[in-house]
Amino acid sequence: MSSTLILGGGVTGLAAAWHLQRRGAEVEVWEAAPSVGGWMKTLPWEGGHLETGPQGVLWQKGTVVDKVFTAIGLPFQSPGTGARWVGKGGRLIPVPASPPSLMFSALMPLGAKLRMMAEPFIPVRGAEPEESLSAFITRRLGKGVATELLPAMVAGVLAAPAEVLSVDAIPKLRQWEATGSLVNGIRKSGVSHMVVPEGGMGQLPIKLAEHLSAVHTGLRAERLEALPNHRWRVSGGGEVREVDRLVLALPAFEASALLWPVAPGSAAALGSIPYTSVDLWHSRHTPLPALKDSFGFLIHPPEGHGYLGSLVPSWMDPQTAPAGVMQLRSFIGGAFGKPADLETWEGVQTRLQHWIPALDAASAVRHEFAENAIPRPELGHRARVAAALEALPTGIEWLSNARFGPGVRDILEGLEVWAGPEAH
Ligand SMILES: Cc1cc2nc3c(=O)[nH]c(=O)nc-3n(C[C@H](O)[C@H](O)[C@H](O)COP(=O)(O)OP(=O)(O)OC[C@H]3O[C@@H](n4cnc5c(N)ncnc54)[C@H](O)[C@@H]3O)c2cc1C
Repeated sequence: MSSTLILGGGVTGLAAAWHLQRRGAEVEVWEAAPSVGGWMKTLPWEGGHLETGPQGVLWQKGTVVDKVFTAIGLPFQSPGTGARWVGKGGRLIPVPASPPSLMFSALMPLGAKLRMMAEPFIPVRGAEPEESLSAFITRRLGKGVATELLPAMVAGVLAAPAEVLSVDAIPKLRQWEATGSLVNGIRKSGVSHMVVPEGGMGQLPIKLAEHLSAVHTGLRAERLEALPNHRWRVSGGGEVREVDRLVLALPAFEASALLWPVAPGSAAALGSIPYTSVDLWHSRHTPLPALKDSFGFLIHPPEGHGYLGSLVPSWMDPQTAPAGVMQLRSFIGGAFGKPADLETWEGVQTRLQHWIPALDAASAVRHEFAENAIPRPELGHRARVAAALEALPTGIEWLSNARFGPGVRDILEGLEVWAGPEAH
């Protein structure tokens, strides 16, 4: 039987291994860190926990996310649809749950709302040349949506300005447009719900790893060497493997570092994909009626000055905090930069209280620096990914959220296509 080695035990590497194993392959995974999960880890925090990465995943019955959760026996719950806001004009403005209700929202002027309603009648454009995210949204939904709503939404997902990003940063957009219009695409794809596994998001990689036959943690691949017949030798941590198929389920910069000696063209293209770092502040407070059962809020970036917004994890997952405690998670910096006042919790809390004056001082605080955590697919991303994939030698593959899209759902959908149909 041919042998496959997957480098990287984040959700991408583990889900890729899971797919291949189901298709009969013999697969081994190497993870450099002491535990699996990559950015998807749930850490204990007095009477609850905090997430280092995703707060939840978009789930829908019958989709690949549902299939994976069911197959690995992962119980989960959905908090439902919580209120959410955009901080703009110095106050928090509600974001309607359904796109048509945006017509009645104070988020945009009337002209922008009327233009938005014309979206179903805008002709579908070919994929080339690649557009920026802002240009795509301006073309389909109008300048009002692109300047008044998009920046906060994108900052909340990618911690970067929409103007510098490629439309490929959010692959769903072009997929929806291809059905005739965004409205049609969204309607056809149905409603997804945010869900959280019991015990936190970190349970997803842990359960995936339990279903795999060979996952080694604390094992970093350090060197790749070409062997005859497109086979590969991988060494690191005192271990050596010779394999037929090598899958790099790694951030682009990590894959680039490994590939330099054996595939410099691919390494150069991967090394040119930028990544964004973000500061995360977890804080506990007395619950506020308006906020405690909500998703949270994002700040319109021109008014945020480095403060991107805050989510309410204790609403998404009640196991997060002890009963009667509201837990927030505030996002700072990203590609917008971090002003001096946001270096400390006092500064972050002052910003929080600017938007929610009734919020009390935190009873407990934790800080995490997520370094190079989020890919930044800037305009030109499509060519960079294509160049990286084309220059990969036979027998080596690269899988990543920088290839499939930023969310866990994007990764799982991308992997299902990559893995191909299962034999029945
Ligand atoms: C703060 C934050 C919030 C997020 N929120 C959401 C959300 O709410 N919803 C959502 O859907 N998505 C969210 N995401 C995105 C999602 O978490 C990521 O897309 C996903 O976790 C990426 O997984 P990955 O396996 O591709 O990469 P990683 O998690 O980076 O995993 C790569 C792994 O490779 C290992 N590795 C590196 N080099 C080597 C080597 N040489 N040998 C062996 N192993 C190596 C690393 O240790 C790491 O474990 C968020 C991400 C962040 C950072």
